[in-house]
Amino acid sequence: KKTTLPIIIGNWKLNGTKNKLNSFFKFIKDKSLKIKKNLTILALPNIYLNYAQELVSKLNINCKISAQNIDIHKQGPYTGETSVNMLSDINIKYTIIGHAERRYYHSENNDIIAKKFILSKQKGIIPILCLGENQLEKDCGKTEEIILSQLNAIASIDKQNKTIFNNSIIAYEPIWSIGSKKSADPDLIQQLHTFIKNYVIKFQNFNIDNFYIIYGGSVNEENVNEFLNKKNVDGCLIGNASLNKKIFNNILVKS
Ligand code: PEP
Repeated sequence: KKTTLPIIIGNWKLNGTKNKLNSFFKFIKDKSLKIKKNLTILALPNIYLNYAQELVSKLNINCKISAQNIDIHKQGPYTGETSVNMLSDINIKYTIIGHAERRYYHSENNDIIAKKFILSKQKGIIPILCLGENQLEKDCGKTEEIILSQLNAIASIDKQNKTIFNNSIIAYEPIWSIGSKKSADPDLIQQLHTFIKNYVIKFQNFNIDNFYIIYGGSVNEENVNEFLNKKNVDGCLIGNASLNKKIFNNILVKS
């Protein structure tokens, strides 16, 4: 039996309006008393962070608000960016880092992502680090190799820091399963989460604290429990299905 409660993270990506947020949170407040059981997080476009933060506080909803990305700089001449300092200024405590769509559309590599990871840690913002292999890498049997290189980039950014993974969330998100309606096999997910956990245990010499591994990739209300029931799966990161208030609510009730 699991001792920790599941972490359910919705990622709205480039979607949403103030109206949609109002009806989403009102629905969840009215329907889901069980929401208090999970750690629920909603990752939103920057422009809605403050609005959503005030809304959940006004409605007294136990849902944390997360950013979807940060810049590698804290301030300065970087037009169009948002820094960890700014997130911290408006009391945002989480940010996604290295989502596959950032890696693909914005050419973010492991080094950039490692810089962002450490910046958010330094500011006390919990990074939700996304990693995972693409279809070709999977077909070539390179899944573990890819995950290893993604983990190594974080582990080697500050060689002195042997507890760098504490106070963070890793989301294993195989790229081929994001938005494809093809989720990964739950047994394989368990195996890869165990691989990640063992890496962190070894790197940190058993000094693990507040470290979680969640799965993302075509999770919905039908399949969420197949993943949550597995060992070393501490929660799920949900894209598409988080945009529908009824479906997301059902996921919260079930998990
Ligand atoms: C995601 O983008 O992080 C994701 C998991 O998307 P989806 O649930 O739509 O596959």
